[in-house]
Amino acid sequence: MGRRVLFLGPPGAGKGTQATLLARALGVPHISTGVMLREAVAEGTELGRQAGALMAAGDLVPDEMVVAMVAERLSRSDAACGYLLDGFPRNVEQADALDRSVAGDAIEIVLLLTVAEDELVDRLLKRAVEDGRDDDNEDTIRRRLEVYRSETEPLIDHYPSHGVPIITIDGLGAVEDVFARVVMALAHE
Ligand code: ADP
Repeated sequence: MGRRVLFLGPPGAGKGTQATLLARALGVPHISTGVMLREAVAEGTELGRQAGALMAAGDLVPDEMVVAMVAERLSRSDAACGYLLDGFPRNVEQADALDRSVAGDAIEIVLLLTVAEDELVDRLLKRAVEDGRDDDNEDTIRRRLEVYRSETEPLIDHYPSHGVPIITIDGLGAVEDVFARVVMALAHE
């Protein structure tokens, strides 16, 4: 079973929820750039100050900032036996930078969580009410989906063409049903 895993999928597909469960099951750290960036914003660090407005608009934070943040995180000892990345790499440039920085310890398997676009928007609008994330408003949601299509979707071809298998998982349904699919997919790998 691969222990260096990347969760890919559009905003609202449930990556964060599934990644939390899977990281616990695999005993590896869950590394979410979205969570790390929101923490930086909340703490008012220099990184947070630079990232906040871009995130609120649904745009990506510059590659060099997230690459440095992830490289530092992966260098900590708890990531030595594996990791579960969520929200990074988000474009081909970040994927190349990650490959350069971790050399032999690159991603072993990609899990792609898919959900129809109407359902994504519904989920994100609902989350806006529940969590009050300031990028969960309709305009920003549309922008994040656009950015996903243009920047992140190319990774769906990039990884297999670099010899890294990708497994598609249907993200529709109850959290525990989707998680059962995730576990099944990894067990068969
Ligand atoms: P979601 O995928 O649900 O929209 P995330 O929590 O993964 O949410 O990311 C929220 C925001 O944080 C993104 O819209 C983007 O502005 C920023 N962000 C997160 N990860 C990256 C990344 N790898 N590169 C650039 N920006 C990022």
